[in-house]
Amino acid sequence: MTGPLLKVENLTKHYQLNGGFIKAGPVVRAVEDVSFSVTAGETLCIVGESGCGKSTIARLLMRIVEPTAGRVMVGGTDISSLKAHELRAWRRQMQMVFQDPYSSLNPRLTAAQIITEPVENFERLSRAQRRTLATDLLEKVGMSPEMMHRLPSEFSGGQRQRLGIARALALRPSIIVADEAVSALDVSVQAQILNLLMDLQQELGIALLFISHNLGVVKHIGHRVAVMYLGRIVELAPCEMFFANPSHPYAEALIAAAPIPTPTRVRLQVPVEGEVPSPINPPSGCAFHPRCPLAIEHCRVEVPHLVPMPDGRAVACHVRAPAADGATLPGTVPFDHSAARAE
Ligand code: SF4
Repeated sequence: MTGPLLKVENLTKHYQLNGGFIKAGPVVRAVEDVSFSVTAGETLCIVGESGCGKSTIARLLMRIVEPTAGRVMVGGTDISSLKAHELRAWRRQMQMVFQDPYSSLNPRLTAAQIITEPVENFERLSRAQRRTLATDLLEKVGMSPEMMHRLPSEFSGGQRQRLGIARALALRPSIIVADEAVSALDVSVQAQILNLLMDLQQELGIALLFISHNLGVVKHIGHRVAVMYLGRIVELAPCEMFFANPSHPYAEALIAAAPIPTPTRVRLQVPVEGEVPSPINPPSGCAFHPRCPLAIEHCRVEVPHLVPMPDGRAVACHVRAPAADGATLPGTVPFDHSAARAE
């Protein structure tokens, strides 16, 4: 198949909070107008601070929650409009590796039962087939087949995450969504699991959507990176380009704050201050404008959309990536942060 395996178009998720007996509560804008694609053998990393919407994207892709708007195309099929019974066939194609290897495995099942269970949801396996499948999958993730009769409590954190990966591979998916898949593990074990994912991806040609807040991990595993801020992608770039020279002011701030050893480390001229605003009441225009050292008055008014740049990245910023009709910007009057704070 040519073209992207996974294509997401204008994906949006709003949660309506309960406001009381009669009136509707405020709306949480968890994901706003997000678009990206992932091809076979590619790793797209989604990064951002807690609450930026990256895990909601994982849940939307897996249809754990329903989108408010937008489409999710898997191999050319729009899976966001499929009925529950139609989803079964699609679920073979897309699997998930969860953050917590402790709670994502059934404590009462053996390793063999855990990793063969997804296949047995679709077809009956003989005892011999089950044993062969468990042996193959355990070997694939670097574990001894002799461990297949053990319970999850008898494994270390890294081994449990290997089991989670084996379970995700059981249905031979073309796409894996890994949501903070190594953040609960020790640093030395993280490296083993990341290398395992990279080896498996190369061998099986899987498209990997890797969600993480850890830029060091992203630098190690990613081909491209999408930076999210308050539910929107603000920069989408090849990893090498992103880490050497981020374009969006928020991306710069993220890299400047991350403990990644790199000779081309970005040093912010003006530090970013303040907290991430609430997605219930996001700032107008560019949601980053109250914290952005480059903000101009226009940023307070108009939401910037992702604009493709000549170097191959896409950036949502009125200053760093003015739209083609940027001439219509009403000047470049700097945004007055002190006046805004005083309001
Ligand atoms: Fe900063 Fe304006 Fe760019 Fe937003 S659009 S990141 S506020 S310069």
